[in-house]
Amino acid sequence: MTLPLSAAETTATRTTTGSKLLAITFDDGPGNYTASLLDALAKRNVKATFFVVGNRVSSYSAIVKREYEEGHQMANHSWDHANLTSLGYASFTSELSKTQNAISSAVGHDVGQLVLRPPGGNYNANVKAWANCPLILWSIDPKDWKDRNATTVKNRIVSQAKDGAIILVHDLYATSVQGAIAAIDELQAQGYTFVTVNELFRRKGITLQNGAVYMSAPSNGIDLGPLDPYAYDETKLSQHWAYTYITYVKEHGLMNGFREDLFGPNYPMTRGMFVTVISRLSGETVTGYENTFSDVNNNTWYTEAVAWAAAKGIVQGVGNSLFSPEAYVTREQACVIMANYLAYCGLGPAVTTPLTFDDTDQISAWAKQGVTVMVGKGIINGKGNNLLDPKAYATRAEAAVILTKFDQLFPNTLTAQHWRF
Ligand code: ZN
Repeated sequence: MTLPLSAAETTATRTTTGSKLLAITFDDGPGNYTASLLDALAKRNVKATFFVVGNRVSSYSAIVKREYEEGHQMANHSWDHANLTSLGYASFTSELSKTQNAISSAVGHDVGQLVLRPPGGNYNANVKAWANCPLILWSIDPKDWKDRNATTVKNRIVSQAKDGAIILVHDLYATSVQGAIAAIDELQAQGYTFVTVNELFRRKGITLQNGAVYMSAPSNGIDLGPLDPYAYDETKLSQHWAYTYITYVKEHGLMNGFREDLFGPNYPMTRGMFVTVISRLSGETVTGYENTFSDVNNNTWYTEAVAWAAAKGIVQGVGNSLFSPEAYVTREQACVIMANYLAYCGLGPAVTTPLTFDDTDQISAWAKQGVTVMVGKGIINGKGNNLLDPKAYATRAEAAVILTKFDQLFPNTLTAQHWRF
C-alpha cells in the first residue's frame, strides 16, 4: 500500500527577530571582472545573484559555470538587454528562453525556471503575464554604471543598507566590483549576511509568485533561521552520491517528496518518516491499528504507520506513552528498527559476525545486535575510513540506500510470507 502523499513529511518553522539579510545582485555580465568578483565573494562566503545577459554567456561559459557551482543564484536579464515592454509575445519568450538555455548549456544541465530582472527595470502588464516567473527589481541602486568610482559606489550601498534590501550592481566595471566588495566588507562588519535572492525571500517566509514584482523582502523582523545545513541544491540531484537509490525508492513508491517536489536527500529522517517508509516497504494494510501515543495526533500522515509498526513490535515508543515522531533517527536506531522489521518478516537467521568498525565501541549496547544484523546482511555499510558513525542522523539519502538494499535483498518478503500462511 502507499500512504497518501503528505504535503510535507516535515516542516520546521523557526522565527527569530532582528535579522540583517541582504541580497546583492550583479547585472549585465558576465564580464572581464566577474572572475575576480567570484574570488572575492568566495573569500567572504557571500552568495550573490547573477542576472546574466544571454548573448554574453558563450564568451564566458566557464565563468557562468563557476557562478553556478559556487552556489550563486543564476537569473535572467534577457538575451540582449532588450526593453521587454516593446516586444511581442514570441520575441519576449525567445529573449527569456534563449538566455535560460545558454545558462543551462554553460553549467551542463537544465537550470530550470530562473527569476527575471527586466533590463532597465522596465515592465508592463504583458511582461508580468508572460514572464512565468517572479520579477526581481532592487531597492538599492548605487548608479555604479554612471559614477565609475569605487568609493562612491561603496558609500551609496552602505548608506542605504537595511534588512531585506536588494542591491543592484553591474559586474561589467572594475569600479563596481571594487565598490561592491568594499561595501560587503563594511556591511558584514555591521552584522549583515549576504544571501541569494531566493534565499532572502525563503528566510523571510515569503513565497515568490510568478508575475509579481519584488524590490525588496519586507523587513518583517522574521528570519526563518540560518542557512539550512541540510539543504541540497536539487537541480544537482543526479550528481548526488545516492542518486540511483533515490531514483529506486521514488520509482517504487517507498519515499515521496520531502517538500513540494524536493527529495531533501541530506535531511535527517524523522521517526515518523522512517516508520512510514517501512510501512510502504511492507506492502501491508496499516489501517485499523490503535494509536496509543499521546504525541501522535490522530490524523497525521504518519499516524497509521506508527500505530501499525508499534503493534507489530517494529518500533517502540520513547516512554511515557510518547513516540516523538519529529525526532531524528540515528544510524544505530535505523539499524534497530530495520532489524526489528526483518524479524517481523521472519527473515533469520541472526547474523553474529563481529563488527570491526573503528568506532564499534560508540554503538549503544541496545543497538549492537541490530547493527550487527544490518551490517551482516549488507544493508548498512560504514561511512568510509572504517567508521560506522552510529550516532549520526540517518539522512533521507541513507534511508534510500537502506530501503533499496532491503527491497532488493528480500523482494516482496512480507507479501510472500502472507501467502504462505
Ligand atoms: Zn541591465
